[in-house]
Amino acid sequence: MQFRNFKMVSYVVYGRGSFNQLDEILAPQRKGDAPMIFFVDHFFEGKALSNRIPLRGKDKIIFVDVTYEPKTTQVDALAQQLKAEFGTVSGIIGIGGGSTMDLAKAVSLMMTNPGSSADYQGWDLVKFPGVYKAGIPTLSGTGAEVSRTTVLTGPTRKLGMNSDFTPFDQIVLDPELTKDAPANQRFYTGMDCYIHCIESLEGNFINEFSKSYGEKALQLCQDIFLGNKTWTDEHDDKLMMASYAGGMSIAYSQVGVAHAVSYGLSYLLGTKHGIGNCIVMNHIEEYYPKGVAEFKQMVAENNIHIPEGICKDLSDEQFDAMINVSLGMKPLWENALGKNWEQIMTRQKLRALYDKL
Ligand code: NAD
Ligand code: ZN
Repeated sequence: MQFRNFKMVSYVVYGRGSFNQLDEILAPQRKGDAPMIFFVDHFFEGKALSNRIPLRGKDKIIFVDVTYEPKTTQVDALAQQLKAEFGTVSGIIGIGGGSTMDLAKAVSLMMTNPGSSADYQGWDLVKFPGVYKAGIPTLSGTGAEVSRTTVLTGPTRKLGMNSDFTPFDQIVLDPELTKDAPANQRFYTGMDCYIHCIESLEGNFINEFSKSYGEKALQLCQDIFLGNKTWTDEHDDKLMMASYAGGMSIAYSQVGVAHAVSYGLSYLLGTKHGIGNCIVMNHIEEYYPKGVAEFKQMVAENNIHIPEGICKDLSDEQFDAMINVSLGMKPLWENALGKNWEQIMTRQKLRALYDKL
């Protein structure tokens, strides 16, 4: 058996107000007068956080549009823009949710790797380390701050640039930054973490490493989303750590049915990751009976609306496209259903599931 020898984030700072240390953290990473580039979620344009970014010399803030999840074309354009303007940069700092952090990781890699980011969608295809990169989440749940991937929609597939060069060099976990997230968005992204835990803990690839992180993250999610009506700072603190631990859990295991099915939705319909996972989770009690029951309780207690009927007007060709994307996620299915997953999750069975969504 070959064990995965995985690369982790190099530096982590955690705590309310730790964002204020950013200038100090970046200082030793500056290379001459090459600037630091801050990718900031467009939500923060004109907001107080933008004025707290420690700009020096030629540093630049780029507000990134995350209305749609990151595309390879968007990554390539940003990397080209920076190369044209500065030649080289000292680093890329992503401040935002999973989409902004993924953009920062991908553009960092494309500053040093030739061609298009679409050439590197897959496993261990990236050739050279990128420029210095740091991630600063403003939404908790995806685990993008700790993962070795950056999920991109390309010309032919939605797949990450998975590599040892992908994890951040630094993350700044400051729960204060998640304070203003709208309740629905916070729930959808928070449920991404909850679903990571269920899929990891209930999967065939589970081991003590993944279990230790997964159980803790699950317990934090339960503390946060069950039995509490008013959201407090403590919830933000806990959800940020749940996201981190949930991400660490899947680093050594794998996600499962909700993610495999939701990738199809997102490829065809552009459904965003968090809400897409929730739409699927609502209908997969067959695979995760306890997790789905608890998920539904969380939805009800937090007064969240989960869309229904999103596939009702699709054509057979469109269903086929989603089924192809979903069945392509082989490790996810194997983790969820075992080595014989292809006999269990047939095209007909998956079609019936998509029909229900
Ligand atoms: P997101 O980054 O797509 O942001 C969702 C919305 O929330 C956006 O409108 C954004 O402007 C807004 N927002 C962000 N922070 C806010 C704040 N503090 N206050 C108010 N609004 C705020 O959402 P997400 O769920 O964090 O990330 C989803 C993305 O992450 C997808 O692109 C998905 O593919 C990716 N992802 C990556 C990994 C990985 O390991 N790399 C894992 C899971 C998901
Ligand atoms: Zn996820």
